[in-house]
Amino acid sequence: MSDMRQLYQEVILDHNRKPRNFGSILAANRHAEGHNPLCGDHIKLTMNVSDNKIEAIAFEGEGCAICKASASMMTGAVKGKLVQDAEIMVEEFRGMATGTLDPDGQDNHLGKLKVFVGVKDLPSRVKCAILPWHTLHAALNPALNPNQTGSSISTEGEADPVSDHA
Ligand code: ZN
Repeated sequence: MSDMRQLYQEVILDHNRKPRNFGSILAANRHAEGHNPLCGDHIKLTMNVSDNKIEAIAFEGEGCAICKASASMMTGAVKGKLVQDAEIMVEEFRGMATGTLDPDGQDNHLGKLKVFVGVKDLPSRVKCAILPWHTLHAALNPALNPNQTGSSISTEGEADPVSDHA
């Protein structure tokens, strides 16, 4: 168990040191920003969605190791996925991080994201881990005005040429 914990920690530290998909998509048609004032995490997500599929995704911003690693792994996990499948993963990740979903006991699509199962025991870190996923959800639902507790998500309205989300 402690070996597993250590392995998980190494994966998280590695993604923190070398975040994947870091930067921004030039021709993005979806974007959102997420803040976690409790920790100071702030990320910007840009995506290109076409044919209901996440063709490209990138993030930038400042955050703690948990937040950056979560954003890094999230972008890798949802790239190439259908929007509805990404939304299922948002729900599953949220469930795992808040302890309502047991990733080893219930069917899910979390895969490598299970390294974050430990955050449910770290109440101050739960919002750090979930922030990128909340931001993804906001970016996928531009019309939405999320009212999540804790992490305040602000969806940007400007420069959003594609409003044909069916
Ligand atoms: Zn944080």
